[in-house]
Amino acid sequence: MLDIILIGASISFVIAVILSISSVVFHVDEDPRIDDITKLLPNQNCGQCGNPSCKAMATAILDEDAKLTQCKPGDEEMRQEIKEYLETHPDEDGEFTKVKM
Ligand code: SF4
Repeated sequence: MLDIILIGASISFVIAVILSISSVVFHVDEDPRIDDITKLLPNQNCGQCGNPSCKAMATAILDEDAKLTQCKPGDEEMRQEIKEYLETHPDEDGEFTKVKM
């Protein structure tokens, strides 16, 4: 019985080490603007914009694949805030995202 517990604990430890190393090796820096824009969206995650979540919509906005008016719960004030944010926050290469209203 003790053998089975030790084998199980050993396997769990090896898997934990592999996952820890993988999380460091395969870490991808996310554009910090995604979270900022997500916070400016209504955060209802309703999908009316054609994206599965507000975070996905924020990513689509930054990829210039979405218009701000696609967010149905969003109002003009929200669109202006996002527009002003994007006009003052370039990507890491200094490029500004083209805002689609
Ligand atoms: S429509 Fe607006 S509130 Fe709904 S998921 Fe899309 S961005 Fe979020």
